[in-house]
Amino acid sequence: MEEYNRQQYAAQNIIIDFLSGKFENEAGLLKEAAIKYLDFRKRAEVFQEKYFFETCNTKCYENKMCACCTKDGIITYFADVALNGMGSGVKEIEGLLEILENPPGTSKCVYLGENGCTWRLKPIVCEMFLCNYAMNKVFEENPDAKLQWEALELERKDYTWPDKQVLFDDVEAIFIGLGYNAEIMYMHNSPGLLMVKKKAGL
Ligand code: SF4
Ligand code: SF4
Repeated sequence: MEEYNRQQYAAQNIIIDFLSGKFENEAGLLKEAAIKYLDFRKRAEVFQEKYFFETCNTKCYENKMCACCTKDGIITYFADVALNGMGSGVKEIEGLLEILENPPGTSKCVYLGENGCTWRLKPIVCEMFLCNYAMNKVFEENPDAKLQWEALELERKDYTWPDKQVLFDDVEAIFIGLGYNAEIMYMHNSPGLLMVKKKAGL
């Protein structure tokens, strides 16, 4: 199994174990902690649909030339995996494991299926990616959309940028506290992010 897929497989497996029912209290805590974030994700999704669907559809979806979902190019945080798992359940995550065991062998992200992304709640990096072409086109026509996008980008940091206590760090901490460990727990093992936390006195 390729390195990227192996790391993903290990993280997805943790979620299956977590969802087996032995950590119901922690699962409840996690759900509660994620409420605001899920609301943010909904608004980001609605924004993308409203302003970018047409542009992306014409440029990429119709001719299947999308440059968004590149192979091994997506940084997936452990919290992405955990929060997707919480909203998906064991059967769906087992489906992702099957994909990782038998990758399609294309030049695209391993998770990209016939009908788009096979995650229920795709990684934050994917949700918040817009190529320059799409941004220039849409924001030129609609400056107000640009302001909304900038506000969403700022809000994203409230969950993912650890210069303060953030959900993505908290999620990892919950799992580490239960004895789990994954290479994609970047909030706890990336030198860059650890430096951000250190500078913030965390
Ligand atoms: S953001 Fe850019 S690359 Fe991605 S689907 Fe839209 S137009 Fe295509
Ligand atoms: S949106 Fe889904 S398929 Fe596309 S890069 Fe992200 S995880 Fe992969």
